[in-house]
Amino acid sequence: MLEDKDRIFTNIYGMHDRSLKGAQARGHWDGTKALLEKGRDWIIDEMKQSGLRGRGGAGFPTGLKWSFMPKESDGRPSYLVVNADESEPGTCKDREIMRHDPHTLIEGCLIASFAMQAHACYIYIRGEYIREREALQNAIDEAYDAGLVGPNASGSGWDFDIYLHHGAGAYICGEETALLESLEGKKGMPRMKPPFPAGAGLYGCPTTVNNVESIAVVPTILRRGGAWFAGFGRPNNAGTKLFAISGHVNRPCVVEEAMSISFEELIEKHCGGIRGGWDNLLAVIPGGSSVPCVRGEKMRDATMDFDYLRNELGSGLGTAAVIVMDKQTDIIKAIWRLSKFYKHESCGQCTPCREGTGWMMRVMDRLLRGEAEIEEIDMLWDVTKQVEGHTICALGDAAAWPIQGLIRNFRDVIEDRITAQKAGRMSKVAAE
Ligand code: NAD
Ligand code: SF4
Repeated sequence: MLEDKDRIFTNIYGMHDRSLKGAQARGHWDGTKALLEKGRDWIIDEMKQSGLRGRGGAGFPTGLKWSFMPKESDGRPSYLVVNADESEPGTCKDREIMRHDPHTLIEGCLIASFAMQAHACYIYIRGEYIREREALQNAIDEAYDAGLVGPNASGSGWDFDIYLHHGAGAYICGEETALLESLEGKKGMPRMKPPFPAGAGLYGCPTTVNNVESIAVVPTILRRGGAWFAGFGRPNNAGTKLFAISGHVNRPCVVEEAMSISFEELIEKHCGGIRGGWDNLLAVIPGGSSVPCVRGEKMRDATMDFDYLRNELGSGLGTAAVIVMDKQTDIIKAIWRLSKFYKHESCGQCTPCREGTGWMMRVMDRLLRGEAEIEEIDMLWDVTKQVEGHTICALGDAAAWPIQGLIRNFRDVIEDRITAQKAGRMSKVAAE
């Protein structure tokens, strides 16, 4: 259990002053110049030692990613791009940072950019995040006025500019290379990787794209030390983490906790338990809509980290957006709704995703109504396997995995519905 003194985000509920004055009173922007004076190698080494894995969903080691940026300039500028296009269904953790604790992010942008020799940072914020955008822009303006960013940022001798760019509502622009395309003024369509952005990113220049939370934790990690951060959680799953818990719990919330906390403790301590009690728990999506759901009885003792959820439960921590569903949930309908979402958001660039998301959604439609044949369950499984791993970006996988989770965990529910429909025992479920 995380103690208050170990929380990085001290204003996640907006109870305190989010202005520069308030942020400084809570320890932000304290000795930033001294941190920069320790040098790039020191910063990157501390980040590696912290064990921080990217908080956008994929969990790629942050310090390692930074080390891919060129040490010597070849004439091209380097950029930091912060991915604030938070759109994964269930995910609303970065929203709280930008709304209530924006200075943690801005200070992190300066330090991370300095470490990667970037004089400019772009924050690409989800278009719908209007209040967050205002809060963040106000904080950026305050930081400029105080000389914390801009020429000779924080008295470090490093010139640093920060720009806030507004997205326009496409989920796919949260994929890092689609985001770069969009930032360049083009249609947001993912690029093939490699090359990864560190080799050719924004305008073809070396770029690191990091999630909001990954950057916002940097100043505190450096002030307290990488070893301090690595002391939470388990090896390879270190640190503190924001969890966004929604659905059928008594008190949905966003909370910072130690990585590897048990699911039961997370829910009991912060959410007042499952609606109707633990016996009423049907399923959990533990990491945002892109990861497979897990049956409730397997989740109770689950360790909430990258490795446990993937290796033991065939799911993932993803964005740590924990979606809880009780036994009043129509689980087929819940996953059908996700299929509809992914079909809508596919950019259409590659065939398995463009055609596959439509196929999957149409079969899900039939399963929802109980109108499919039993054999179609295996056929649908095969279609998900044709999509998974055969597309340009991760949206194809994200569309396939929830359905695989449904079939793996709730095949009995699907079969029962088909049988009941054939026997005339079920009224038609109206798909919206
Ligand atoms: P990815 O594994 O391809 O990449 C993760 C990061 O590591 C990227 O920045 C990538 O450039 C870097 N990387 C990976 N391999 C590398 C290598 N060999 N060399 C250099 N850099 C390398 O995953 P992704 O497509 O960026 O992200 C997928 C995840 O995004 C999903 O797991 C999902 O949870 C998450 N997601 C989050 C949101 C949100 O709102 N936060 C929305 C949609 C999806
Ligand atoms: Fe576009 Fe889907 Fe291909 Fe990604 S996987 S590039 S969203 S068509």
